[in-house]
Amino acid sequence: MTIRCSIGTAKVLGLKKLKVDALPTTAYLMVGEHCRFNCGFCAQARESSAREDLLSRVSWPKFENDALLQGFVNADLESQSILQRICFQVVQDKAALVETKEWVKSIHAQSQLPICVSAGARTIEEVGELLDLGVDHISIALDAATPEIYAQNKDGSWEERFSLLKDSVKRFPGHMATHLIVGLGESEEEMAKCIQTLYDLGITVALFAFTPVKGTRLEELPPPKMSQYRRVQVAHDLIRQGLARIEQFKFCDGKIIHFGMEINDLKMMRQGEPFRTSGCSGCNRPYYNETPGKELYNYPRILTSEEIDRAWANVLQETEWDNTQ
Ligand code: SF4
Repeated sequence: MTIRCSIGTAKVLGLKKLKVDALPTTAYLMVGEHCRFNCGFCAQARESSAREDLLSRVSWPKFENDALLQGFVNADLESQSILQRICFQVVQDKAALVETKEWVKSIHAQSQLPICVSAGARTIEEVGELLDLGVDHISIALDAATPEIYAQNKDGSWEERFSLLKDSVKRFPGHMATHLIVGLGESEEEMAKCIQTLYDLGITVALFAFTPVKGTRLEELPPPKMSQYRRVQVAHDLIRQGLARIEQFKFCDGKIIHFGMEINDLKMMRQGEPFRTSGCSGCNRPYYNETPGKELYNYPRILTSEEIDRAWANVLQETEWDNTQ
């Protein structure tokens, strides 16, 4: 059996030598190839002609299972102190879930780290089976903030996925997560509403910035404006922390124009936190959406004070900020 892991994970596990700016704090593993679904943004989609070793911007070299498992066993002390979690990204082909379960068993025997499975489960029974094997978080990706955006970009239905998430979190509270992609054509208001609904149900949200990948259906769509992404990140942070609810936000033409609190107060209180990678604890996804050398959508580490200033300045750009409050 073989498995792919992100290039940064390969470095942490001692399987590849390379220089990187930021190391992943989660080991990202990819099971399955050539998805039966056809998401417009995904390199692994049915009709994608992108390089088969890509998922988003990241390359995923292949390893024999023994080599990978040895990586976990042999990881030096430095690597062991870096990794906080293991995440299986499951590409939906016929065998992938069966294979994932085998992998979860093998890795669980070698490592005490919490394990997530992303995109593997299709029914509540499958969610239960994975949790029984010791998986700690299951992510069922909605990706789109609304059913309409979902229908334009993905197979299947938003409502079905949402109801699977809802039923699963009711049965298995604290164990469900989802991914949302900013920049597929939704408004900031639609995204903020979706985030509030998910947190009200107890579902963890991981925010991604849409990233055009050559060979995918959406290769020509530009990534979201940084200002849009920053406002959604702040909305997400306030909702996640229970510091504000969507009812306190103000919107104009779908854009956020106030959070119900002064920006300077928010900046003092939250510093760079809203702009760090979100999702399961310990997940930092370095360079998943980012181009090295350019401003980062999701910071995989603590921000510098200049980065904090720039990120909060971005929040106020390209919107009619409401200064009347
Ligand atoms: S948030 Fe991170 S660790 Fe959790 S399922 Fe998503 S990619 Fe995996």
